[in-house]
Amino acid sequence: CGGKTPQQAKVLKIGTDAAFAPFEFQDEKSKEYIGFDIDLIKAIGKQMGYEVKVQGMGFDGLIPALEAGQIDAAVSGMTITEERGKKVNFSKPYYTSGLSIVVKQDNAAIKEFKDLEGKRLAVQIGTTGANFAKKVKDAKVREFNTAPEAFLELKAGGVDAVINDLPVNEYYIAKTGSKDAKIVGKPLNSENYGIATAKKNTELAQKIDKALEDLKKSGEYDKIYEKWFGR
Ligand code: GLN
Repeated sequence: CGGKTPQQAKVLKIGTDAAFAPFEFQDEKSKEYIGFDIDLIKAIGKQMGYEVKVQGMGFDGLIPALEAGQIDAAVSGMTITEERGKKVNFSKPYYTSGLSIVVKQDNAAIKEFKDLEGKRLAVQIGTTGANFAKKVKDAKVREFNTAPEAFLELKAGGVDAVINDLPVNEYYIAKTGSKDAKIVGKPLNSENYGIATAKKNTELAQKIDKALEDLKKSGEYDKIYEKWFGR
């Protein structure tokens, strides 16, 4: 395909909000970007003959960065939504997620969705969790730049619950927060993650879909999935 040598490989500039483990976060020591999304986009880039360069930024800055041409693709646990679909192209879904509720370990008052009414909620700005929280009757919603900051506020007692993506909540509790926090209730919904590209760059969107399909067929996708979610 094009006969490109690695030195001539084209660069795929990726934007991500690297505070969303296990999808994208920074290795504590090396500060390198790691996670399921990072491995996946590196594999996709390789499949396409591109060198992948990852750039960290705020989640709410990803779509503007795509629109401004500062990045080629956003890979950031980003849910495919109709509203975002007006501004960017999404790849085929690559991960099925959904929102869930996190409360303090000793909270006996919030057990399910209906108990959120009138409560103080923490969310990450610009996310589906934020949109969801804003629809809860009489809730006081506080928006944070990153999911870890929302968890910190819960720990500090400043809010009653966090609404955030279930796999990220699970990872947080498993790795750091099991003494402090717990997930309650059923998942609030089902969401699909997609890789976002600029509206006008339909060629790239097609290439990404093709590469994703290839990786699913070859078993490479499953390997990456196992690495981060296998137990
Ligand atoms: N999946 C959620 C969304 O798309 C949260 C993504 C994130 O915080 N990285 O809004």
